[in-house]
Amino acid sequence: MTDAIAVLNAGSSSIKFSLFAQAGKDLDLVVRGQAEAIHTAPRFAAKSANGETLSTHTWDEGTRLGHEGALEHIVSFLRDKVHGMSLKSVGHRVVHGGMKHALPVRVDRALLADLEQLVTLAPLHQPHNLAPIRLLLERRPELPQVACFDTAFHRAQPELAQMFALPKELHDAGVRRYGFHGLSYEYIASVLPQHDPAAARGRSVVLHLGNGASMCALSAGRSVASSMGFTAVDGLPMGTRSGALDPGVILFLLDQRGMDARAIEDLIYNKSGLLGVSGVSSDMRTLLGSDEPRARLAVDLYIYRIGRELGSLAAALGGLDALVFTGGIGENSAEIRERVCRNAAWLGVVLDKAANQAGGPRISTAASKTAAWVLPTNEELMIARHTRRALG
Ligand code: ADP
Repeated sequence: MTDAIAVLNAGSSSIKFSLFAQAGKDLDLVVRGQAEAIHTAPRFAAKSANGETLSTHTWDEGTRLGHEGALEHIVSFLRDKVHGMSLKSVGHRVVHGGMKHALPVRVDRALLADLEQLVTLAPLHQPHNLAPIRLLLERRPELPQVACFDTAFHRAQPELAQMFALPKELHDAGVRRYGFHGLSYEYIASVLPQHDPAAARGRSVVLHLGNGASMCALSAGRSVASSMGFTAVDGLPMGTRSGALDPGVILFLLDQRGMDARAIEDLIYNKSGLLGVSGVSSDMRTLLGSDEPRARLAVDLYIYRIGRELGSLAAALGGLDALVFTGGIGENSAEIRERVCRNAAWLGVVLDKAANQAGGPRISTAASKTAAWVLPTNEELMIARHTRRALG
């Protein structure tokens, strides 16, 4: 039997999972999959590392499988259908580690209680991330679990980068910039030395462009600034999230539009960003293929805001040696990368068009003062590595 680590990423309506075999020093992906629409029309699918479908299952419309039923299905699939593997530990993606957690940590009841306190800081994600941890603690107390935080990588940022200009009492109470997508940035920081050792020792900006999108300034592999702040709605416009807003807009919506907190939350998380501006879709592929002027406008605004954020992060770094694109859009859209790089010419980026069309990894010319790269992220592998390390 080969020892294996399961990685779980539980959201409001889905649980994604991966299984890694511990082969000596390496961690090899064996299977990945997800249970989706777990409260409405649940479906399950699992694929092998090379993309071959291993199992699918659907439940009747209206079945409320929930996190509990979904987790049960995933665990029994791993036990009954994945042969030759012995599940030794589980690593979880947890969005918020608060002020305290700058490293992944082994789960026990005290930690779970501690992380439940942070639900108020990330009400849309934290409760769902914690649901499978709680269930496994109850059902399989002997199975070691490790919580890996999206905020942890940014805890090393200089104090100034973490501050809002608010009264100290609020800062002390935890109202600060946390930054998110930390597991993705940490993974990129771990592979950048293989591609561009000089930039890895120097200054780079990583663009994680997916449905959620953010950017992070790395100095010698450590996060020094990021576009997301107190919550994952800050910074860049995203699929459905607004990104940074003048706080006065929120007051206007409260006072003049009579909206309450929940209605504003729904607006800025679910109805804004690419979807809100275009009125067409939150999906970048759809927008790039659309003739609608508002679809074009949404993409133009996206590119413009990335350019503004890039200038800000390059200023925080005092210069720039490399740009790195990752996430669904960053890894797959040559058009978005080309437009971002063109706007970054003032920072010394010269795009190699053919290399960009081919998907990289290097997409800047040999003469480009600042390099540009496409590097696929792998948050699951980062969590599996952390889980192994945290358990010694
Ligand atoms: P998540 O943040 O949910 O993990 P992903 O990282 O998978 O999301 O990114 C999803 C986004 O990537 C969608 O907007 C999708 O349209 C976009 N995307 C995927 N492939 C392409 C492509 N070839 N061209 C443009 N956009 C793409």
